Amino acid sequence: MQKVYARLGEIGKEARRNPELIVGVVGCMAQLEGTGILRRAPFVRILAGPQKSVVLPEMVEQAAARREPVVDLRMDDDPEPLETSHVLRQSRWRAGVTISEGCDRQCSFCVVPFTRGRERNRPAAAILREVEALVDQGYLEVVLLGQTVNSYRDPASRITFAQLVRRLAEIRNLARIRFTSPHPGEFSDELLEVMVAYPQVCNQIHLPVQSGSTRVLRAMRRGYTRDHYMKTIGKIRAAARPIAISTDIIVGFPGETEADFQATLSLLDEVQYDWVFAFRYSPRPNTAALNLQDDVPDEEKRRRLSLLQEQQRLIQYNRNAAYQGRILEVLADGRAKSRFTLSGRTTENRIVNFDGPETLLGRIVPVAITGFGANSLKGEWAGRRQEDCRERD
Ligand code: SF4
Repeated sequence: MQKVYARLGEIGKEARRNPELIVGVVGCMAQLEGTGILRRAPFVRILAGPQKSVVLPEMVEQAAARREPVVDLRMDDDPEPLETSHVLRQSRWRAGVTISEGCDRQCSFCVVPFTRGRERNRPAAAILREVEALVDQGYLEVVLLGQTVNSYRDPASRITFAQLVRRLAEIRNLARIRFTSPHPGEFSDELLEVMVAYPQVCNQIHLPVQSGSTRVLRAMRRGYTRDHYMKTIGKIRAAARPIAISTDIIVGFPGETEADFQATLSLLDEVQYDWVFAFRYSPRPNTAALNLQDDVPDEEKRRRLSLLQEQQRLIQYNRNAAYQGRILEVLADGRAKSRFTLSGRTTENRIVNFDGPETLLGRIVPVAITGFGANSLKGEWAGRRQEDCRERD
C-alpha cells in the first residue's frame, strides 16, 4: 500500500495543477484500504474494487460530471460472469488474457478472497473471440490469467480449463499459449495431456507450493500435502516433453520450525525448480493467519529467505548450464538492457539476451546459446548461420 500512496503523492502534484485530471484508484488495494484513500489523497475522484473495472468508463463519465468522488467498493455475493475489456497491452506480441478473477479458496495468508471476491469466469466464447482477434492483430503469444486458473469452468457449458486450452490451441497462427497460476490441488491429468498434445502450449508450469512441510501447508489451508504435490511434479516430469517448473514460497509462516524450513529446502532439491519467487511472511488484513502468532522473528525470516535464495540460485545456474551450445526458439520481444541487442523468451519462459538485427523483433527465431547465468541465457541469432549453411549446400 505504501507504493500506492507514494505514487499518489506524485500524481497529486499533477492533479493540483490540472483540475480536469480524473485520478482513480481501482482494484484490490482500493478494496482493502477503502475510503481511507480519500482522506489521504482528496484529489482521488474514483474509488472502485476489482469487480468494477468493467464499468470504469461509466464511472469516469460520472466523475467528470460531478464534484464528489465516485465510490463503488461493493463485492457482489453472486457476481455476474466476468467480462473484461479496455485492456492496455504493453507488448505487441504477448498478451495477457484474463479468463477468471477472484478465488473460492481460503488460504490463511491470502487477501484475494477479501479483495477480489468469489471466483468469476468469463464465457469461453468471449475468450476465444478475444484470442482470435489478438492473433489477427499479430499477437503470437497469449497468457491466460486467473487466481487459480485451472479451476476455470465456462459459466454455461461448464467446459474445463483443459478443454478451453485445447480449443485455443486449435486457433490457426497462435504460436504460444501460457497460463498462470494453476492450483496444485486441482492440476488434472487432462491438462497435462493437452500440453503434451499441442506444442503451442508452452513447456512451462508455475505451480505455487508455498511450503515443503505438510504441517505448514495445513496451517496455510492450502488443501494439499507435500506428497500430493510431489505426485503432480512426478507426472509433469514424466510427460513426453520436458516442462519447466517454477513456484512461489513463503518462509517464516507462523509456527514454521527449523525442521519445516529444512523440509522446504529439501523440496527445492527434489523438484529442481527452474525459478522460484520467495517471500518472507507478513500478516495481511482480514486473513485467518492473523489469529496465529507471528512467532518467527524477522531476522530469522531474513536468514531463511537468503538461505533458500542461495540454494535456488545454484540450482538455476546448473539447470541453465545445460542449455549451453543448444539452439532455442526465442520470441524476440524487446531490446536487452545489457550489452546484447535483443531480449526474448523461450517456450519455457527462460529469458535470453542475444545479438541479432532489430528486424527480428516480434518473431520467433532460433538463438544459439553461448553463455548463461542463474537468471538468464545469452546467445546469438542462429538464423544467419542457418542461412549461410543453406547457401553453402
Ligand atoms: S493463495 Fe491463491 S488459492 Fe489461496 S486464496 Fe489466495 S488466490 Fe486463492
